[in-house]
Amino acid sequence: MNLRGILHNLRNMRPGGQRPLPGWMRGRYGVDQLGRVTSTASLVCLLLTLVPRLGFLLYVGVALLALSYWRMLSRNVAGRYRENATYLAYLGRLRRRWDRVKARTAGRRTHHFLRCSGCGAEMKVPRGKGKVRITCPSCKTQFVRKV
Ligand SMILES: [Zn+2]
Repeated sequence: MNLRGILHNLRNMRPGGQRPLPGWMRGRYGVDQLGRVTSTASLVCLLLTLVPRLGFLLYVGVALLALSYWRMLSRNVAGRYRENATYLAYLGRLRRRWDRVKARTAGRRTHHFLRCSGCGAEMKVPRGKGKVRITCPSCKTQFVRKV
């Protein structure tokens, strides 16, 4: 089987057997979100080995491919499920952080983003109001700022 065939198979297998699995796959974990990321990353690494001086990525790519297969063929379904849950939780945190950065960038022209000196909570204060007394919505600390 060539690499494309392998990756095609990786992509089309689902945990829990939503489609009929071949006999040798029975009781094995299959592919989850984390598996899709590791197999895609391995493909990217293997493609990047074509770029001069990036040949070392061959090792990374092969390691990621081996990891993808090892997880896919694993019979420790609970363990693999936990790994995927950890990955999804991390992804969620990353997404929320990114959304905050985006909201901040969008509001920068009209609002100041301040941190409370008491509890460190972030708050949004409209610009151009002169000196204002700000009360932290979470710990009620008051402070005066020019905005
Ligand atoms: Zn506060």
